Amino acid sequence: MTDDIKLGNFQFCPLCSAKLVVRPESLRERLTCPNCGYIYYHNPVPAAGGVILRDGRVCLVRRSIEPRKGDWTLPAGFVEYDESAEQCAVREVAEETGLSIEIAGVHGVYAGFDDPRQRVVLVLYRARETETRIPIAGDDADDVGFFAADQLPPNIAFRAHRQALRELFAHERVTL
Ligand SMILES: [Zn+2]
Repeated sequence: MTDDIKLGNFQFCPLCSAKLVVRPESLRERLTCPNCGYIYYHNPVPAAGGVILRDGRVCLVRRSIEPRKGDWTLPAGFVEYDESAEQCAVREVAEETGLSIEIAGVHGVYAGFDDPRQRVVLVLYRARETETRIPIAGDDADDVGFFAADQLPPNIAFRAHRQALRELFAHERVTL
């Protein structure tokens, strides 16, 4: 991991626009503002999504935007400031698949280190559909479908999603 990735690559204080400097803070080096004292904590971004099964087949969406455009993932996205991870999962599933879900439990929590935009903490929930709807791709997805363990697309984006699918289909020995 390079220093840029650990510290963030911002140059100027977002509060007062002074040039940020690297200083020891809370047992590691961080970008801090010598003028107003602002400290930039370079944390991963929380994301959440849903694991939805129909007859043993899992719901996946195809990405219509970069990064990894054209690859498939579980429906998921970044948590907005004013919502919980559960609310985010319900919203992202609705936006990307048109499906209505309720949270049934936690499938798993994953570290996303291969998203070029930022480091991610991904919470994937087991989800139940609250009504039967025809899935319709939307937002940053351009296709949606339900896939059996032996019919998963070969191009699953992001290690966290591949790991989640391997765990979901642990008894079927999927290789992703
Ligand atoms: Zn400042």
